[in-house]
Amino acid sequence: MAAPIDARSAESAVPEWMLSARCRDRSVSEFFPSDGVGVEAARRVCDACEVQAECREYALELRIDHGVWGGTSERQRRRILRAGRREAREARIPAPRGVPRGR
Ligand code: SF4
Repeated sequence: MAAPIDARSAESAVPEWMLSARCRDRSVSEFFPSDGVGVEAARRVCDACEVQAECREYALELRIDHGVWGGTSERQRRRILRAGRREAREARIPAPRGVPRGR
């Protein structure tokens, strides 16, 4: 979750897991870094966050392009989504007889 939550306006409008976000009291800009050093710093925060998995799934489901979410960079999420689409395509197309999947 890249954007810390404003508790005054968002308590009932946000998914439950966001209330446990480790980044709640941090600057939003930390999670929208402009370089790799910033990405690594944000990911270190995420690594100790108890809702990291929920945050990553949220970003993937909503196709959030920018920022570090759930410990993943923009590039990592694009890779995950591409891999997911490839798997979905392969799952719909039966492999020829005698050829194991993935070849
Ligand atoms: S995983 Fe990172 S971005 Fe997501 S809620 Fe936790 S600290 Fe915030």
